[in-house]
Amino acid sequence: MLEKVVIANRGEIALRILRACKELDIRTVAIHSKVDQNLMHVRLADESVCIGPDNPVDSYLNVPAIISAAEVTDAVAIHPGYGFLAENADFAEQVEQSGFTFIGPSADVIRAMGDKVKAIQLMKASGVPTVPGSDGPLTDDLAEAKKIALRIGYPIIIKAAAGGGGRGMRVVQSEAALPNSLYVTRSEAGAFFGDDTIYMEKFIEQPRHVEVQVLADGQGHAIHLGDRDCSLQRRHQKVIEEAPAPNIDPEARERIAAACVRACIQIGYKGAGTFEFLYEKGEFYFIEMNTRIQVEHPVTEMVTGVDLVKEQLLIAGGMPLRYSQDDIKINGHAFECRINAEDPDNFLPSPGDVSYFHAPGGNGVRVDSHLYSGYRVPPTYDSLIAKIICHGEDRDSALARTRIALDELLIEGVKTNIPLHKEVIRRGDFKQAELSIQYLENMLERR
Ligand code: ADP
Repeated sequence: MLEKVVIANRGEIALRILRACKELDIRTVAIHSKVDQNLMHVRLADESVCIGPDNPVDSYLNVPAIISAAEVTDAVAIHPGYGFLAENADFAEQVEQSGFTFIGPSADVIRAMGDKVKAIQLMKASGVPTVPGSDGPLTDDLAEAKKIALRIGYPIIIKAAAGGGGRGMRVVQSEAALPNSLYVTRSEAGAFFGDDTIYMEKFIEQPRHVEVQVLADGQGHAIHLGDRDCSLQRRHQKVIEEAPAPNIDPEARERIAAACVRACIQIGYKGAGTFEFLYEKGEFYFIEMNTRIQVEHPVTEMVTGVDLVKEQLLIAGGMPLRYSQDDIKINGHAFECRINAEDPDNFLPSPGDVSYFHAPGGNGVRVDSHLYSGYRVPPTYDSLIAKIICHGEDRDSALARTRIALDELLIEGVKTNIPLHKEVIRRGDFKQAELSIQYLENMLERR
């Protein structure tokens, strides 16, 4: 068992990790930037270390400072949370080389999954269905690229192998636009990600975003914990998630989950991970793997009863997986609403003092948030301030509890997107689960 863990993150996920550590009697070290000294988990941790100024480059992305904090506090492991350094293979490597345990998969696996071309090739080899595409990187040969595009059929999408955060991709409707799009995507990939490798995929026009949660112990055991639908997105940022994904073809669901488990074993995966797919007309198409805990992990916890962060800590401590696939039963339905400190009309961040905070409650309601009355939301970081997660015996009841929870939730002093959530969950087509990744943007366009 790990004795002491450095929590290399901030906000709600840092508090989430702290709670799991406490439950397992693991001592905790909170590291934080200057402005974050009043974060809830910093107050609750056994020890805390200020690792630098507010700018993330100087603090939450400052690898030597984080490793030094682990050294001076005699910690044994580092939990990266999500964002920041969570999917940085060099960080994972340096943590391990400095004699600490990185809570996540090996640096090699993170590196392989961070290269989307390599990830797709590994998935294919494990029988995970991928988007029809170029079978590897595109060369400079334009005639060859035209041939591939004709084979898969327009519209196509050109993507940067090293891309992330919804950047470095371009949709191409016809051959006339292909040469310029190839050129621009390649130059942008080089400029943004320092790697100008690009590849081509069929552009799936009306898909849903459906993902599969896995746990693996790196000792030959892996399980899946069902799926989530995360189609409600704005600019590729998820806003509402639910588990299980509604209206999925049962046979396709079984097949995809089994393929994910097989892939985990084949790539030697360790820890919690997510396989992301586009889902259209009963078919799954792999797009990428996230090698970390995700923001939306609580909806899976609510329907499976498994504490994913606790399992991450146990696996990192060397324990074999405690669950077999048969232990995992999906019970009811859960939604998560991501509450951001932002203007509900123009989506601009709205930092400032939270003058009043009242969390909702009741049966099946979970609030993951670092907020308290008097907390100041700094302008420097992500605007996520709370996650409202509601469980019910079925989708309708989970949705009703979400509606009630959103009505009870009060956050004053900063603007939030609570009105947007209230609007979405009352819509008839949302209640009917008529979802696609264009749903939210279409709704916003019409209004
Ligand atoms: P990132 O790592 O930047 O998040 P992804 O590969 O996960 O990139 O893609 C992000 C989003 O872009 C997807 O959720 C989807 O909305 C869109 N997208 C990616 N590939 C395709 C595709 N082949 N067809 C349609 N949409 C796509």
